[in-house]
Amino acid sequence: MSRAYNFNAGPAALPLEVLQKAQEQLVDFEGIGMSIMEISHRSKEYERVNSETQERLKRLLQIPDGYKVLFLHGGASTQFAMVPLNLLRQGTVAAYVDTGSWAKKAIEEARLLGEVKIVASSKEDQYTRVPDVDKLELPERTAYLHITSNETIGGIQYKTYPDTGNVPLVADMSSDILSRPIDVSRFGLIYAGAQKNLGPSGVTVVIIREDLAEANEHLPTMLRYRTHVDNDSLYNTPPVYSVYMVNLVLEWIEENGGLAAMEQRNLEKAKLIYDVIDQSGGFYRGVAHPDHRSPMNITFRLADEELEKKFIKESAEQGFVGLKGHRSVGGLRASLYNAVPYESCKALRQFMLDFLQRNG
Ligand SMILES: *Cc1c(COP(=O)(O)O)cnc(C)c1O
Repeated sequence: MSRAYNFNAGPAALPLEVLQKAQEQLVDFEGIGMSIMEISHRSKEYERVNSETQERLKRLLQIPDGYKVLFLHGGASTQFAMVPLNLLRQGTVAAYVDTGSWAKKAIEEARLLGEVKIVASSKEDQYTRVPDVDKLELPERTAYLHITSNETIGGIQYKTYPDTGNVPLVADMSSDILSRPIDVSRFGLIYAGAQKNLGPSGVTVVIIREDLAEANEHLPTMLRYRTHVDNDSLYNTPPVYSVYMVNLVLEWIEENGGLAAMEQRNLEKAKLIYDVIDQSGGFYRGVAHPDHRSPMNITFRLADEELEKKFIKESAEQGFVGLKGHRSVGGLRASLYNAVPYESCKALRQFMLDFLQRNG
C-alpha cells in the first residue's frame, strides 16, 4: 500500500489506524451484522457512540461541568449564523476580531443579523499576524466576542486568548481544535467543523456553556442551541458516520498521549518546515509573522508564481498532495494537522531542501 504525503487543508489527512479500524468495522459493527450507518440513531449501539464521543472530548479538553458537547450539521459556516442568532439580542452588540478570511466570513454573517463591531483587526498588516488583543475595548452591552483561533488560509494562530471578563468568548477552532491543550472555562462557546483536525466532514462540534443556550422560541427549532442541548444532540438524525469517525479519532489521540503530546509533536513537525523557510536565505518566504505562525497551516511563497507552479508540479510528481495555497491568496501552504505523520513532514522538508538546491 502506498499512502500519499497528504498536506490537504480540509478535508484533510486522517490517522491510518483510524481508517483501518473503520474499514474493519464497516460491514459489521461490533458483531451486530450491520454497519453503524444502517441502524437507528436511537439504537443502544449508536447512543453509546454518541455518548462515548462526548465523554472523550470532555476528557481530552478537560471540559468543566456546565458545558454541553453537541454534534451539529451544516459545517462551521452554519455556526457563523447560529452564534448571532442565539446570542445577539436586540440592544446588544457582537464584537469580532478580524484576522483574515474566516473571521471575515463570520463577520459578514453576523452583520445580516444584528449590530456588529470589529474591535481589532490585522487588515493593515495584510493579516500576517493576530492583532493585539491584550487590552481590547469592548462596547457597552457586548453580547460576545468572536475570534478565529487559527486562520486556515492565512496561516496565523492565537498564542494567547483575550481575557473578556464576563463577556462570553466565542471561538471558531475549526483548524486547530485538539492540536494543543486549552482552558475551556475561558470560553462561552467553541465550534469546529470536523474535517480539519477531528474527522471527516459532515459534523460540526459545538461546546457550549449551558446558560448561553437560551430558549428563544422565535428561532427555527433546528437553529436553537437549546433544542440540541435538551435532546443530548439527538433531536433529529445526527451525521452518524461522521460522529463515529470522530470517536475513533479521539480514541487515537488518547492512545497517543492526549493533547500535550499532540502539541509537542505538532510543534516538532512545524519546526521541520519553518526551519527550512528561515534558513533558506529568502528563497522561501514565510507569510505569517514568526510570533503568530500556525503549526497547523504553514503558508509560504517563492520568488514568483512560475517557481511556485514548478514547486507544486514537482512535489506532486513525488507524491505530495495539497501544497497549493488557497485560491484567494495564492502561494503555497502545507497543512500539518494532528494526523499528518512526522515522516511526511520529514519528506517535505527534504523535498524543500532539494528544490532549493536545484533552483536557488
Ligand atoms: C474550514 C473552515 C471553516 C468552514 O468550515 P465548513 O465546515 O466548511 O463550513 C470555518 N472556519 C475555519 C477556521 C475553517 O478552517
